[in-house]
Amino acid sequence: MHSSLSLSIASHTSPAIAGSSHISHSSAFGFVPSSPINLRFCGLRREAFGFSALKHSASRRARLSGRTTPRSGNVVAVSSPSDNGTAPKSFDYDLLIIGAGVGGHGAALHAVEKGLRLVGLMCVRRRREERRVSGGTSVLGSSSGLKTAIVEGDVVGGTCVNRGCVPSKALLAVSGRMRELQSEHHLKALGLQVAAAGYDRQGVADHANNLASKIRNNLTNSMKALGVDILTGVGTILGPHKVQVGSSNTVTSKDIIIATGSVPFVPKGIEVDGKTVITSDHALKLEFVPDWIAIVGSGYIGLEFSDVYTALGSEVTFVEALDQLMPGFDPEIGKLAQRVLINPRNIDYHTGVFASKITPAKDGKPVTIELIDAKTKEPKDTLEVDAALIATGRAPFTQGLGLENINVVTQRGFIPVDERMRVIDANGKLVPHIYCIGDANGKMMLAHAASAQGISVVEQVTGRDHVLNHLSIPAACFTHPEISMVGLTEPQAREKAEKEGFEISIAKTSFKANTKALAENEGEGLAKLIYRPDNGEILGVHIFGLHAADLIHEASNAIALGTRIQDIKFAVHAHPTLSEVLDELFKSAKVSH
Ligand SMILES: Cc1cc2nc3c(=O)[nH]c(=O)nc-3n(C[C@H](O)[C@H](O)[C@H](O)COP(=O)(O)OP(=O)(O)OC[C@H]3O[C@@H](n4cnc5c(N)ncnc54)[C@H](O)[C@@H]3O)c2cc1C
Repeated sequence: MHSSLSLSIASHTSPAIAGSSHISHSSAFGFVPSSPINLRFCGLRREAFGFSALKHSASRRARLSGRTTPRSGNVVAVSSPSDNGTAPKSFDYDLLIIGAGVGGHGAALHAVEKGLRLVGLMCVRRRREERRVSGGTSVLGSSSGLKTAIVEGDVVGGTCVNRGCVPSKALLAVSGRMRELQSEHHLKALGLQVAAAGYDRQGVADHANNLASKIRNNLTNSMKALGVDILTGVGTILGPHKVQVGSSNTVTSKDIIIATGSVPFVPKGIEVDGKTVITSDHALKLEFVPDWIAIVGSGYIGLEFSDVYTALGSEVTFVEALDQLMPGFDPEIGKLAQRVLINPRNIDYHTGVFASKITPAKDGKPVTIELIDAKTKEPKDTLEVDAALIATGRAPFTQGLGLENINVVTQRGFIPVDERMRVIDANGKLVPHIYCIGDANGKMMLAHAASAQGISVVEQVTGRDHVLNHLSIPAACFTHPEISMVGLTEPQAREKAEKEGFEISIAKTSFKANTKALAENEGEGLAKLIYRPDNGEILGVHIFGLHAADLIHEASNAIALGTRIQDIKFAVHAHPTLSEVLDELFKSAKVSH
């Protein structure tokens, strides 16, 4: 099955699956292949991940060695005080993070906050000097003690900053304005007159690219300013406490966090040429705006791109393996989203079909997409379009990581972890001192989830037990209007209620009754609350409407803090604000408590 991303969460322990018509709700936005064949190295430089260059020689003597080539400014060399295979008595670092995406960055910053001192290999000279001063101990010159480093094989910021959240939101900021400026009806209702709206493709692309650079620099500078040094090179785990960085340097660390993220998943039979058949990595560069583009997969990435492309004038055709579009959303919200985001726009769709073969445009011929029935596998149709965007989910990236050296076998590509992000080996045992966060563990493939998991791990390695409640983590789709959610969908809540023997109730409020939304002429929207009427527990909240992504946090914080409806309904909201939609929602719930 090559379909969309699952939005909701029921169990957070097993990753989403592919290869059948079933989509697991376990991976918030993730759709994952049953075996990660066809992985692309999008964004991860092939030469940086030149696996043949990675030598795992067990007999290689660690040494104070030469510098790795600095690519992001603050890098450097590495030392290893002991042989491979045995845990050294002292470590170069207390915490080593592999992958400087948002997960790794979040962990690193929290480590600083917790008093961890982030030290990089550029400190080797300083370290020698300090050793001299401190009489040869391996303690660096910080009274706070712990030392941390972050290893990155490509550029700081990972998917979110360079190829995900950040550039996509820049494009969506443009599409939102274009949409507004193009809506005569909307402008007229506000009494506005605007001459025809237009755009400069390169200008829009530059906006996305500049934003990514800016945030990447901010991230890099924030780590540098706080004393974080970045070790540039591919990180390969050689054994307990030991990581090779690049081709020749080795570092040791008491604790290791794997935060290696994910890459676009491209199903078999689809040929990506990066020009006419593309993934989100290419689409975010906006090198051209096709007249007609097929988007394979109607999860949140596909949906966001449909918002961008239709606002910029493209016609969109969705190809979706399941029987309905946006299968990961709460069904009622999905229906409303279809009515507002799909039906009135220049979008058509084929559901219940796989794109079994996609051939890029060549020699004046268009992109061809062969569709087969998702259930019978019988040929259904052939589409000819100007471009195809493959938005069939993300596959965890763990190649070259050396998991075999710690006896870890991935499950459908993901690194198995327990609820504390501790890595589990092939025998079901915890691997001491090794954690995995973010997309690579597949619990919830979202930027803020990766970061929250990193923070949770830092809490643990600094002596405070912490288990992250994934059911309190919100998710959002930044279309116009936006969609957001936290907790269970209605079908998931009904299933849980039946299993555990309790009742659920539903409350809803419309944006049509909200003054601020009406003032903006944006009354199309719905907020939905799924809760237990017997004790006021919030099970799930789903919002479709203006700034839904911002509004969801009142609900997610309530779930995180265990706040019940009978308490939150007395919270006061400023008038007139969109937040009154949630105020109304909680007030309309009927709790018997
Ligand atoms: C188009 C798009 C839009 C998205 N929009 C949103 C959104 O709006 N909100 C949201 O929450 N999420 C969004 N996401 C998802 C989000 O980007 C990911 O969930 C998030 O980036 C995962 O973070 P991570 O730290 O786990 O991994 P990544 O961000 O993928 O970072 C992993 C890093 O590890 C490095 N690496 C990998 N292997 C090694 C190695 N062996 N040695 C050294 N370095 C290595 C990589 O180069 C990379 O820099 C979006 C994704 C896409 C594709």
